[in-house]
Amino acid sequence: MNTLRLIFADQLSESVSSLEGCNHADDIILMCEVREEATHVKHHQKKIAFLFSAMRHFAQSLSGQGYRVIYVRLDDPDNTGSFRGEVKRCAAKYNPAQIVLTHPGEYRVLQEVRTWSSVLGIPVEIRPDQRFLCTPEAFAHWAGRRKQLRMEYFYREMRQQYDILMADGAPVGGKWNYDADNRKPPKTGLQIPANSTFPPDEITTEVMQLVSQHFSSHFGRLEPFCFAVTRKQALTVLEQFIQQRLVCFGDYQDAMLEGEPWMFHSHLSFYLNVGLLLPLECVKAAEDAYTQGKAPLNAVEGFIRQIIGWREYVRGIYWLNMPEYASLNYFEASRDLPDFYWHGDTKMNCLRQCIQETSNNAYAHHIQRLMVLGNFALLTGIDPKQVNEWFLAVYADAFEWVELPNVSGMILFADGGYLASKPYAAGGSYIHKMSDYCKNCRYQVTRKSGPDACPFHYLYWDFLARNRDKLSTNPRLGMMYSTYHRMNDDKKAAIREESALFLLSLEHHRD
Ligand SMILES: Cc1cc2nc3c(=O)[nH]c(=O)nc-3n(C[C@H](O)[C@H](O)[C@H](O)COP(=O)(O)OP(=O)(O)OC[C@H]3O[C@@H](n4cnc5c(N)ncnc54)[C@H](O)[C@@H]3O)c2cc1C
Ligand code: SF4
Repeated sequence: MNTLRLIFADQLSESVSSLEGCNHADDIILMCEVREEATHVKHHQKKIAFLFSAMRHFAQSLSGQGYRVIYVRLDDPDNTGSFRGEVKRCAAKYNPAQIVLTHPGEYRVLQEVRTWSSVLGIPVEIRPDQRFLCTPEAFAHWAGRRKQLRMEYFYREMRQQYDILMADGAPVGGKWNYDADNRKPPKTGLQIPANSTFPPDEITTEVMQLVSQHFSSHFGRLEPFCFAVTRKQALTVLEQFIQQRLVCFGDYQDAMLEGEPWMFHSHLSFYLNVGLLLPLECVKAAEDAYTQGKAPLNAVEGFIRQIIGWREYVRGIYWLNMPEYASLNYFEASRDLPDFYWHGDTKMNCLRQCIQETSNNAYAHHIQRLMVLGNFALLTGIDPKQVNEWFLAVYADAFEWVELPNVSGMILFADGGYLASKPYAAGGSYIHKMSDYCKNCRYQVTRKSGPDACPFHYLYWDFLARNRDKLSTNPRLGMMYSTYHRMNDDKKAAIREESALFLLSLEHHRD
C-alpha cells in the first residue's frame, strides 16, 4: 500500500510526523512551490526565496537518503499553482492508497486539507505536529481551567513539565522570571557581534532568479540574501548565538540602535518556524551555556521564556480561537494602513528605520515590531486586518499561527485583553529611552505639543481618551488615567486637536 506524504514549506524537519513509518521503496514524498501560497498575501521577496531555497535543500537531502521525492518547482509548466491541484495531479499519477501529512500551521490550509478526502476520494491522515512542546489539546485543557489566560503561568508549567532551569522542583536562582534585570537602554560603544551570513549557493541563486522574475512587485529587497537554508547552517546560527550573543541577550533585549538591525537577538525564528531547528534543542543549548557559566541567568531565562513561553502560548491561543480570532476588533479600528509602511517614507525616524530594516532584511526584532511599528498602529487605530496582512507579508518568520496572536492580541489589543493584560501603548519617551532614533528625527521627543512635538506623545493620550470607556477600568492603566484626568481642559483640547490634525495628515500622506 503506497502513501503520498505531503510536506509543507514550514515542515522541514526530518523528525516531522508525516515521515514516520515511511516506506522508502513505495511511498512518494510531495513538496511543491505553489503560487497561491506565495501570493495569498504578497510575501517579502526574501521570504519567498528563503522558503523555496530551504525546501529545495531539504528535498535534496531527503532524496540523498533514499526517499522518493517529487518536487514541483514554481516554474514547472504543469504546476497548477495550488496545493489541491498538485496533490490531485500527483495522486492521478501514482494512485496512492492514502495521503499523510502533518497538521498545517495555518487554519486556512487546515480547512483546505480537510476537504481532500471527499474531493479526491482518497483517505487523508492529518498527524499532530510534534515539533511543538504543547499540543493544542493540552493548551485547551490548561486554558479551560482558568478565568484569565496569562503567559507567565503557562510558562511556569512548561518549565516544570520539561524540567528546564529547575532545581529540586523550584526555579533555578529562586525566581521564575528575571525581567527586572533585563531591558537596559543601549549604552554608547556597544560592541555587537556580526550576525551569521551564508552566501547564496547554486540552489539559492537559482531560486533568487525565479523570485525576481515572478515576484518583483512584492515588498522588500531580495539582495543581499544571507539566511541559512539548511539544518547544518541553522545549527551554526544557533551556536554563534549561544557563544556570542546570549550573554547580552537579556540586558539589551529591548534596545534599538540605528544601523543595528540584529542587536543581541538570536535570529532563530526563521529556522524554528520552518523546522530547521527544534525548540528544545535551542532551549537546551541556552541552559547548558548557563550551567557551564558562559551566560548569566537573566539572559538564559529570558531567552528560554520566549521559546517555551511566548512561542508555545501564542500557538495555543491561535488554535483555541480560530477562526474567530482573525476578525476581532475590540476598538473598532478602521483606519487604512498608511502607505509608508510599504516604503518607509515618513519623517518619524523610528518608523522609518524599522520599516527600512524590514524591507532590507525581512526581519525586525521584537521591540521594533511591538513598540514602534505595532505601537503606532495601535495608537492611530489602524484596521487589524490590514495590520495583520502587513506583518504576515513582510517578515520571513511570519506564519499565521504566530503572527496573528502577536498582532491582534499583543499589539492591537483587538481581543480585548484575552492575551495581554493591557495594551502595549507608549508615548515617545519609551522609544527615546530604548533607542537612539530620536536624535535623527525631524520631531523633537522632548516637545509634547506644537508642530515639532513627537507625535507619539499626543497620540498616546488621545488613544487613552478615545478609548476610555473600554480601558479606564483596567487596573494597570489606573495611574495613566489619573494623570490624564488631572490635565486641564486646554491641554486635553490641544491633545485632541493635534492628534486629529496628525491623523488627517496620515490620510493625505503628509505625516
Ligand atoms: C507585532 C508582532 C508580530 C510578530 N510576528 C511574528 C511572526 O510572524 N513570527 C515569529 O516567529 N514571531 C513573531 N513575533 C515575535 C517576535 O518578535 C519574533 O519571534 C522575534 O522578533 C524573532 O526574532 P529572533 O529570532 O531574533 O527572536 P529572539 O528575540 O532572539 O527570541 C528568541 C525566540 O523566541 C521566540 N519568540 C520571542 N518572542 C515571541 C513571541 N512574542 N511570539 C512567539 N515567539 C516568540 C521566537 O521563536 C524567537 O526566535 C512578533 C511580535 C510582534 C510584537
Ligand atoms: S521623536 Fe518621536 S517620532 Fe521621532 S524618533 Fe523619537 S519617538 Fe520616533
